[in-house]
Amino acid sequence: MSERTLVLVKPDGVRRGVVGEVVSRIERKGLTLVALELRTLARETAEAHYEEHSSKPFFGELVEFITGGPLVAMVVEGPRAIEAFRALAGATDPVSATPGTIRGDFALEIGENIVHGSDSTYSAEREIKLFFPELG
Ligand code: GDP
Ligand code: MG
Repeated sequence: MSERTLVLVKPDGVRRGVVGEVVSRIERKGLTLVALELRTLARETAEAHYEEHSSKPFFGELVEFITGGPLVAMVVEGPRAIEAFRALAGATDPVSATPGTIRGDFALEIGENIVHGSDSTYSAEREIKLFFPELG
């Protein structure tokens, strides 16, 4: 049983030049790329993407950051792809993230933690629809 997840290389990851590294880790794991696009998010898309965090004190900062430069959006497919990519990404706080994970290897700040991966089948479906409506 295959599933799909939305992966973002956030603007810090693009700026740092680790897009290839992230794609390489996804491919090495055996996951498949279904869609991939470089784009700069409109504020409304960013707010919709992070709507579950809209009441958090860091929401404004989060939206500014994610719209602040181009990002790479991907749809990634494979068996338990959601959980598999979250494992590759590592913990949200990159200082706690295990070395060997993307965040554990490339980041230090929670607000600039390189990648996003959907956290459930519900989120994946919602986020894929938001970024790649043509795949629906
Ligand atoms: P994720 O699913 O691991 O990405 O983490 P969450 O869904 O909890 O949070 C979404 C994103 O918001 C994280 O990846 C962080 O980049 C950012 N974030 C979470 N907590 C904080 C915080 O306390 N401060 C700031 N500036 N950003 C945060
Ligand atoms: Mg999340």
